[in-house]
This record gives sequence, C-alpha cells and structure tokens, in this order.
Amino acid sequence: MQSDGLPLNKGLYFNLGGLSCDCTEEVIEVMAKALSGENGEKPDIWAQHESPYVKSLIELFSSRGLLRLDKVKEQLDAWMANKNFVGGKTFSKPRFGPTPHELNLVELYLEAIPAEKFGIDDWALLIDYLVAKYMPDGSLATEAEWLAVRSVFMGKVQANIANLGAAGADMVVAAMPNTTGAAEEAFKPSDLIKNILAYERARCADNVQALADSTRHRLKTVIMAHEQQRMLGATPPKEALQSTLFDTFADLNRDWRRIAVTEVGDAAGNGLIASLKAGTKVRRVEQYKGACPFCKKIHGMVFTVVDPDKKDKDWDTEVWVGKTNIGRSGAARKRVGDRLVERTDEEMWKVPAGTVHPHCRGTWHVLDDAKPTDDPDFAKWLNNLFASNPHKHDDDAAAKKVVTPS
Ligand SMILES: [Zn+2]
Repeated sequence: MQSDGLPLNKGLYFNLGGLSCDCTEEVIEVMAKALSGENGEKPDIWAQHESPYVKSLIELFSSRGLLRLDKVKEQLDAWMANKNFVGGKTFSKPRFGPTPHELNLVELYLEAIPAEKFGIDDWALLIDYLVAKYMPDGSLATEAEWLAVRSVFMGKVQANIANLGAAGADMVVAAMPNTTGAAEEAFKPSDLIKNILAYERARCADNVQALADSTRHRLKTVIMAHEQQRMLGATPPKEALQSTLFDTFADLNRDWRRIAVTEVGDAAGNGLIASLKAGTKVRRVEQYKGACPFCKKIHGMVFTVVDPDKKDKDWDTEVWVGKTNIGRSGAARKRVGDRLVERTDEEMWKVPAGTVHPHCRGTWHVLDDAKPTDDPDFAKWLNNLFASNPHKHDDDAAAKKVVTPS
C-alpha cells in the first residue's frame, strides 16, 4: 500500500552524504541554477531576446538548428514506419563514413531491409546516417562561424551606435560578412577583436558539435532500449517509444535554443567590451522574465571597461574582454571530503563581459557618450551602409548617427 508520504511544508531535505565530491558538486550546481526567480517565475527560453542588436540573430540561428533536428525526426519516423523500404538484394553492412559516397552506401543497405527486420546495429547505423546527413560537421562549423562573426560585430555596432532599433539592427546583421576571413578583410579589426572572434567561433563550434554528438547518443539509447525489449520477446508499445522520442527531440530543441541565446549573448557582450575604450562606463542590464537571483542582483551595476592586460583588475568594479565565470560557481558552498564549506570570493560567479551562465540574457548599456576604440574602417562601413539604405531604418526613430572615432 502506498504511504501518505512526507509533508513538504517543513522543507525538503536530501542527504548527499553517500555521493562523491564531484556528484555532490553537480547536484549543488543544478539546484543553485534551478532556484530561479521569486514567485516560481520561470524564464521563457523561446521568448525573443530583449536586445535589438542580437534578437534576429538568435531567431535565425535557432530556427535553422530546429529545422535540422526536425529533419532527423521526420526521417527517423519514416524509417520506423517502413516508408523508406525499397527492397531488392541485401548486401553486407557497409562501414559507416561521412562522405557522400559512404552515406549513399549506407542508405542503399538500409533501404533493402524492412523495418521489422532491422537489428540493433541497423538502428544505430541509421541514426549515424541521419545525423551525418542533416547535421554534418562542416555545416555545423559554418553555422557556428556565421553566428560568432555576426555576434561579435553586433557588439561592435552597439559600441558605435547607441539605441539602434530592430529595423536598423536587422539591416546591419544582413549585411555582415559570413566568415572570420571575410570580416577581417572588410573591417581590419584589432588583435583584441581577432582573438575574441577566434575564441567565440571555437566555443560555438564545440557547442554545436556536442549537440550533434548528444543527438546521436540519446536517440541510440532510446531506440536500442526499445529493440532490446523486442528481442527479449516483450512487445513494448510503439506509443511509448514515440512518446520518449518526442520528449528527446523536445530536449534537443531546447539545447539548440540554449546555444543560440547563450553564445550570441557571450560573443556580443565580449565584442562590445572589446570595442570600447578603457575608462568607458557600462551598466549591466538583466531585464527579462525569470532572471535568476544572481542576475537580478547585478542588474543596474556599473562597471569600468579596462584593458585585459591591466594589472590587479578589480572583479567587482571592472570589466574586460574575456572576463568569464568559467570555473566559478553560483552556489555558495562546495563539498570538500565529508564537509560542506563556504566558497571563497574567487570561486564565486562575478559579472562577466558575456553571459553569466547558460540561458543568461544579460547585456550592457553604454553610459554617456559611447567611446568606441579607433576603428575608422568599421565606422566607414557602417556609415556607408546607413547612407545607402535610408529606407531600411526609416521606422527606426532611435537610430543615432554612427560615432566616427576621432
Ligand atoms: Zn542568471
């Protein structure tokens, strides 16, 4: 008989004593992040970003990724429903490879087998095939570069034009070069911008690659477990498999959205700080539904931009390119051996140049007159763009003149 359970009004307690230090850390981190917003207010990860500089970038990148995941799902459904069965002569399983010729061989091999005859290895091969076809490494790397270049330079646009509206920002996003090479050619950016561009591009590429790996791994786990039940003589309901796959794809969609929001925010924040002269004052903006307690606390704080190579930088009052929370924590305590100890100030989250944590939507407002770094080529490019497209930002009453560095 089921017991009445324990009342929660006196608190809910976990005993983490039996876990390892690493596992305890993971639980504490997740709990610290989950305790977001007062009144149970949850962030809406699908809401458009509050900053006009990055809003359309996030939506474009997000929708392209979801389309790729949709294609994998649609094709997996078709194979499971035997819609891709062609028949004909079967042949021995080809070795999986990502080249068009190798993928073509895999397709021919699988098309000859009816779905009910697929073995576990065939399902695994199908998933490798679908991910390689719709989420190929090369295309994901191109997506990541597209996103990093535009995000970093939209940060630079913000340093040059305060209060740019959505129409103007969309026009600039559309006109940006696609690759780091083309951007370096067009804008002749500083070494600082080049470095942050290389970092953001690599970081974004790593994240999208990890998502492709996770897609492969998670789909295989679900399908293999279902197949194992079948092989053992059970008749697991197809609806249960469909429902688990539906949830898995929903998780993967959210993961892609997380990359879009977090990576764009991080690259644009760093791009902005890299494009402001040392001494410029910036105010942190964390104004969105469901901001976590830490981000609510830092909203409105003012920081001074300093060079990253300045000695004795102040983590509480200064911000610099590459100032990051990687390796720091939002949880007040950590487990050391069998004790829970307070973290030192150096171990705690601070206000970074980019995003505080995944899904963070923090941005900057540049105070007083923007003081962009000297970059005549970029200012000229922006001036020409606005001069030759006056109609595209007519409705953009707040668009200001481009600040031409002195
Ligand atoms: Zn936060």
